[in-house]
Amino acid sequence: MAVTKMRKTPKGKLRAVSTRTPKYVYSFANGKADGRSAMRPLLGGKGCELAEMTNLGVPVPPGFTITTEAWAAYNGAGKKHPPGFWKQIESGLARLEAAAGSRLGDPDRPLLVSVRSGARVSMPGMMDTVLNLGLNDETVGGLARRTRNERFAWDCYRRFLTIFGDVVLGIDRHGFDALLDRVKEKAGAKTDADVPADALKELVADSKRLVQERTGRPFPQDPTEQLWLAINAVFDSWWAKKAVDYRRIHRLADDWGTAVTVMAMVFGNLGTTSGTGVCFSRDPATGEKRFFGEFLVNAQGEDVVAGVRTPEHLDDLKRRMPKAYRQLVAIKDKLERHYRDMQDIEFTVQDGRLYILQTRSGKRTGAAAVRIAVEMVEEKLIDRPTALCRVEPASLSQLLVKTVDPNARYSAIAQGLSATAAAAVGRVVFNPEKAVETALRGERVILVRAETSPEDVAGMHVAEGILTSRGGLTSHAAVVARGWGKCCVVGAGDVVVDEENGLFRAGKSVVREGQVITLNGATGQVVVGPLPLVDPKLSEEFKQLLDWARDVATTKVRANADTPEDARKAREFEADGIGLVRTEHMFFKDERIPIVREMIMAEDVEARKKAVDRLLPFQREDFIGIFKAMTPHPVTIRLLDPPLHEFLPKYKDVIEEYTRLDALRINPARHQELGGIKARLEALLEANPMLGHRGCRLGITFPEIYEMQVRAIMEAACTVARQGVAVEPEIMIPLTGTTAEMKLTGEMTRRVAEAVTAEMGVRVPYMVGTMIEVPRAALIADQIARHAEFFSFGTNDLTQMTFGYSRDDIGKFLPFYLDKKLLPADPFAVLDREGVGELIRIGIERGRKTHRDLKVGICGEHGGEPSSVEFCHQVGMTYVSCSPYMVPIAWLAAAQAEITEPRRRPEPARGGKRHA
Ligand code: ADP
Ligand code: MG
Ligand code: MG
Repeated sequence: MAVTKMRKTPKGKLRAVSTRTPKYVYSFANGKADGRSAMRPLLGGKGCELAEMTNLGVPVPPGFTITTEAWAAYNGAGKKHPPGFWKQIESGLARLEAAAGSRLGDPDRPLLVSVRSGARVSMPGMMDTVLNLGLNDETVGGLARRTRNERFAWDCYRRFLTIFGDVVLGIDRHGFDALLDRVKEKAGAKTDADVPADALKELVADSKRLVQERTGRPFPQDPTEQLWLAINAVFDSWWAKKAVDYRRIHRLADDWGTAVTVMAMVFGNLGTTSGTGVCFSRDPATGEKRFFGEFLVNAQGEDVVAGVRTPEHLDDLKRRMPKAYRQLVAIKDKLERHYRDMQDIEFTVQDGRLYILQTRSGKRTGAAAVRIAVEMVEEKLIDRPTALCRVEPASLSQLLVKTVDPNARYSAIAQGLSATAAAAVGRVVFNPEKAVETALRGERVILVRAETSPEDVAGMHVAEGILTSRGGLTSHAAVVARGWGKCCVVGAGDVVVDEENGLFRAGKSVVREGQVITLNGATGQVVVGPLPLVDPKLSEEFKQLLDWARDVATTKVRANADTPEDARKAREFEADGIGLVRTEHMFFKDERIPIVREMIMAEDVEARKKAVDRLLPFQREDFIGIFKAMTPHPVTIRLLDPPLHEFLPKYKDVIEEYTRLDALRINPARHQELGGIKARLEALLEANPMLGHRGCRLGITFPEIYEMQVRAIMEAACTVARQGVAVEPEIMIPLTGTTAEMKLTGEMTRRVAEAVTAEMGVRVPYMVGTMIEVPRAALIADQIARHAEFFSFGTNDLTQMTFGYSRDDIGKFLPFYLDKKLLPADPFAVLDREGVGELIRIGIERGRKTHRDLKVGICGEHGGEPSSVEFCHQVGMTYVSCSPYMVPIAWLAAAQAEITEPRRRPEPARGGKRHA
């Protein structure tokens, strides 16, 4: 749309400039639409799919969508519409009116519209929608005459006043609800549906009065003004606190903005041959291929989602309106085939006629995501790479959720619907803010509400589980919790929440705030007290997907494991080896810690050696167990890393007991022992232990410790090798910062290893390498690689030292930093690509200058975090290593990284050698 405009030049002269006004409005009407699915960023999810469905011939009421570009222009200009905006809306409206055969504000044939929000990513319930717009004192009569239903028309009008008052005029909806309650009482009506027309007229008058009182202005009667105001309100709802919170939790961009869809209303509240509902083309909890949904007869859309009435099964729709039901089944099949994904569909039946109001890829639990992806490959709807990309790696953790121990005996006090399979144990809290507070103190909480609303998301997010007394499986609580894979039981009708008195009742039971309950997600039961929870079992589909992921991934996945049990768990999850055994964890066991303390307390080398030698058999046994569990895969073992004081009792406790004994003059032997410990602790005291006497610095100053560890590793390796077990130990030096450190410890390690293999007469392949976790080591990686055969990036320490943030103290300022967007994420959770990542790049590049095939891995917490795994893939790591439970997540993330950025590039034509 070219427009010629007069603009002032910098010198003040007027000049004609041609500007292009963007197309702000996209229509869908009469089976034809300007938009399509691919325009999601521009039209929002709702808008683009309404357009797509219109083009597919699905019955969608006519309308138009205002683009996110219009939102951006409006938002950028300080909430002013861009030039040409309203004109485009007018022509969109004209097309809509022509298609609908009615006109906005026409007293005889009034058009009513909904004004709906819609971002590119679905944010269920977070932004606003206005229904029944276009009603006023005149058009309400027209609507009554055309539908021959006066009660219905006035019901729409009072709903419109409430929603418009709430969303557009900022009047708390409780005010309107109170008016409704009063009218209901006066008319002796049991439910909203029993309120007669005359009472509704009265309610409309009351509501208008409320608007006048609160805003100082009469309720806007002009439908055009209503439309204008509603569009702005929906634009602005992008910045509602709940929406901002939601984006923060889900890491969505603030500058995407929302589109606005204006479309003709259809009425599910026109009587018993009308209704409204939500359905899924497959079960969103389990993924099972069965039609699933909920339906409310004689109701308007928001009633289902808000969980105000507990809805009926789709079978009721089949019984009441068989034709509409059959049509719905055909449409959901068509939509699923078209989108090749499970669809979540909103529909309304008006007088037996079916309309589709929204479709989107349905939110699902991790289990459902896996099952649907795998089954759709079997059904030839999608290919394997698509299936692998369909499942969000982090959502797999939900398949690894705990459930109630099947052997547990208990009786439930209430029964609800299970929105997810996860079980949870926690203290009852009724209020979302309180939930946040309590969770911050490290307590597990269960949030109990009559129903949840989008304002509650922060509290829901920190809760272990959510329990509501109202609402169905598509209520707000259920949808949100399912996205998180969080335990959630909804619609437990017996639960009566009395927030004021801090308790809920269920039958004869009373449960007070702070009391512990268990929610059994699998059954929907509510149980007083804690029940034992058990670990999950893997489904066939899960194993299938994991197999595909392993086939595709070029970055391998190992596990961090310190015990043979961990190692077995890691194998079960298909880890390709162990990336980190922390030997110090073996020091903490009961019978060992006294020997470790002896070693630390030793006055001289001789005494220390004696203690160290007594530790050797324990370490050897542990390594034997781990090697056997992990054969034939490599096992990386890190030599002792933490500062020694960690193995001694806490200084504060020692002082306390020492002073007590001192004062009472009892137990002289213990007193003397404590005196020794106290003195040793004082000698070991460091201002900053994380930067102190630890890692290879310990191994260099107390060589007998590392020598013993290397001996234990190699003796274990030779022992199992003799039994025919394939082993591949990789001995890893922690905290290397200089070439000299690496050279010295490397030589020591090889000397001991050679001695052991010679003694035992077995050759075992082994490697000597190092952690790269001091920034200096990354910078001199080429030098270090002369003495190291592999690198493993210790990104916890590397992050700590690169940022200069103490891991233990970051909590003091991190929340503020995240809130103010000074950091995009906690760098200890999500690898910082810009800084820490750059050091990793440098380290790999320089290390591989020396050793072209240098094995490189990562063993920090980041190894199981999907975006960090993607980064590790991009910089060419050989593997990532993470906790056993994260292994499947890392495999999937690595597979997705390979699919989007393949490492297996074709070889260059002339067969020249490439660096990895
Ligand atoms: P949300 O994004 O919160 O789901 P929607 O824009 O989908 O909000 O609107 C909420 C509900 O209002 C929908 O589920 C639908 O049932 C109802 N609704 C929206 N537009 C119309 C319409 N034109 N006719 C009838 N019902 C509508
Ligand atoms: Mg919706
Ligand atoms: Mg470290």
